[in-house]
Amino acid sequence: MVKKRKELVPMPKSKFFYIRCPDCGNTQITFSHASTYVHCFVCGRLLVRPSGGKAKIDAKKVSEFG
Ligand SMILES: [Zn+2]
Repeated sequence: MVKKRKELVPMPKSKFFYIRCPDCGNTQITFSHASTYVHCFVCGRLLVRPSGGKAKIDAKKVSEFG
């Protein structure tokens, strides 16, 4: 019996995001499973909080890749 598999190639679930700071509009790249606090490079607003696994993103997601 052949079982069909959805994923032929195992891919990591982690991704990179472009996020936009809601305060100053600065766009920067972050990791979906960031383990550190990520602040806006320009104004210093907290954008990403670590939460064990997937990070909590507190900014507008522009696009994702990776
Ligand atoms: Zn900012």
